Amino acid sequence: MKGLKEIALGTMLLVTLLTNTNISYAQEMELPMQGYNIPNLPIPDDGEYAIIAKEEKPLIAIDAGHQAKGNLEKEPIGPGATTKKTKVTYGTEGNTTGLAEFELTLTVAQKLEQELLGRGYEVYMIRDSHDVDISNAERAQMANEAHADVFIRIHANSFEKSYVSGAMTVCQTASNPYNSFLYEQSRSLSTYVLDEMVAATGCKKRKVWETDTMTGINWSQVPVTIVEMGFMSNPTEDKLMATEDYQKKMAEGMANGIDKYFLSIKEEEKIEMTE
Ligand SMILES: [Zn+2]
Repeated sequence: MKGLKEIALGTMLLVTLLTNTNISYAQEMELPMQGYNIPNLPIPDDGEYAIIAKEEKPLIAIDAGHQAKGNLEKEPIGPGATTKKTKVTYGTEGNTTGLAEFELTLTVAQKLEQELLGRGYEVYMIRDSHDVDISNAERAQMANEAHADVFIRIHANSFEKSYVSGAMTVCQTASNPYNSFLYEQSRSLSTYVLDEMVAATGCKKRKVWETDTMTGINWSQVPVTIVEMGFMSNPTEDKLMATEDYQKKMAEGMANGIDKYFLSIKEEEKIEMTE
């Protein structure tokens, strides 16, 4: 029999634990209820819950590129880097529609969010409004802290020659000084997303560009890709990207690519198990 004092202490601690706003809903639900021994219970950290969640529903962090106002301060292009780049540039705009890149990226990001939720993924939106000030490094760190399984960064391109069109994706090189261990996954993700987006929209396929110059890639500790959906400097592509129908196709294509990426991981695991 436990003494009244112990019961009272246990209840107090339980109430404290359950009302502590730092404890997520998931943690509340997962708290094992074993008598009043709560003070001795190991409370798993976020990482352990992320692993549980991963096995069920992959978490996709979506970053709608840019924001209403650029932030022209500089930040290191990677952890410990001496090279610095602008925190967030203003982005481009449609040469025919006048649509701002930050508007287009959020519109498509929100369509991708709905598409992914409908397919059973969990989604973490880096931004859901234009009025934010989040640097590229911070965006990556947000995805890291959320324990995302995939970090997808949505952008649109621009080039001086207006006839240039098409989609491309971007990932790190195999010798990236900050996160080369993510190269194969990021490359595979970038390939699937590009292929499926091209299949869904019929746009010109450019390439997967491997580069170690992107702050938001270098700071990422999870598989990452930048989707350059098309050229806002190309009148045809600019007008197309501004239509709801084409935006839906782009979002579906990206989601198809994400599906294929996870399928390929599962297949790889199966092969490893049979070896
Ligand atoms: Zn951009």
